[in-house]
Amino acid sequence: REQEIKRQFEALEHSNRYFQDMLRSSSERERAIGYLKQRGLSGQIAAAFGIGYAPPGWDNLLQHFAHLENAAPLLEQSGMVIHNEDKQRYYDRFRDRIMFPIRDVRGRVLGFGGRVLGDDKPKYLNSPETPTFHKGRELYGLYEARKHSNQLERLLIVEGYMDVVSLAQHGIHWSVATLGTATTAQHLERLFKLVPEVIFCFDGDAAGRQAAQRALGVTLPVIRDGQEARFLFLPDGEDPDTLVRREGETAFSQRVSQALPLSEFFFRQLSDEADLSSMDGRARFSNQALPLIQSMQPSLLKQMMLDRICEITGLSLEQISSVIDLHQATST
Ligand code: ATP
Ligand code: MN
Ligand code: MN
Ligand code: MN
Repeated sequence: REQEIKRQFEALEHSNRYFQDMLRSSSERERAIGYLKQRGLSGQIAAAFGIGYAPPGWDNLLQHFAHLENAAPLLEQSGMVIHNEDKQRYYDRFRDRIMFPIRDVRGRVLGFGGRVLGDDKPKYLNSPETPTFHKGRELYGLYEARKHSNQLERLLIVEGYMDVVSLAQHGIHWSVATLGTATTAQHLERLFKLVPEVIFCFDGDAAGRQAAQRALGVTLPVIRDGQEARFLFLPDGEDPDTLVRREGETAFSQRVSQALPLSEFFFRQLSDEADLSSMDGRARFSNQALPLIQSMQPSLLKQMMLDRICEITGLSLEQISSVIDLHQATST
């Protein structure tokens, strides 16, 4: 069992080396390198993130491993090849894609994200969940960020691989991306063990704004005194990659320093949704705000947010406590 896991890690590491070699030596290398250049990436940054290329064709990776005993099932378990049961055939999962290796904090390759070079769909393909790869736990770029600095002060949470790499290209080596999933409590707990401050920076589109709202709900039960979460909203149509390329490091960092504190986002969000000039609106506001506050750990921030709700609604803490148990945190 342990032996098997070790073999899987070796297969993934090996695959990664193969993809990096292919970026240098495959007959399609000019297209692949051209794509990375066109996205503004230098060879140095591509190397720092171990970016590679999976050439076109159904069995390049399989053939590369052909000398190994039982290579196909091993690669299948590692998520690198797919088994077609009907045709009794194995074929490469990633074909003609730019490959982003996803590492754990120790630097072991757990899986890959692969992007097409053009507009084909799906744009990104990720390794499947395996016994060693859980998307709700891992963060792309965390290993590289920690490698760059062992005294990280804050981390930016972005949506995509390309955002992380492009930010690093522009000198911002402290971002991580969730792997095509929503931010989880596990992600946040992991980050808050490393840094006291996280800044959510999702795309400036409807999906990004929705992700920010969801992140708020996930952060409230997790955050403790001494920790800070903030929210950075980007102009419509921009993502961290396009924006840092357009504006550069200084302007982007300026935006980061002006990101909304969690409590401000919270109150802005909820007061936008209710008419606070009417009693009914204030009741609606309270009914939305209080369960969220209730989900928080006991903290000074929680106390202050409660005080603010009292100010807004005119209710006293006693009145609020009579309808809701404020000390019971729903999560640990
Ligand atoms: P690019 O700049 O390369 O076009 P992006 O990162 O801006 O890509 P988005 O569409 O904003 O792409 O998606 C953000 C992230 O969501 C991607 O980096 C990827 O992790 C994930 N994602 C996007 N599309 C897919 C997909 N079709 N399947 C799986 N994951 C996806
Ligand atoms: Mn988007
Ligand atoms: Mn993008
Ligand atoms: Mn994007």
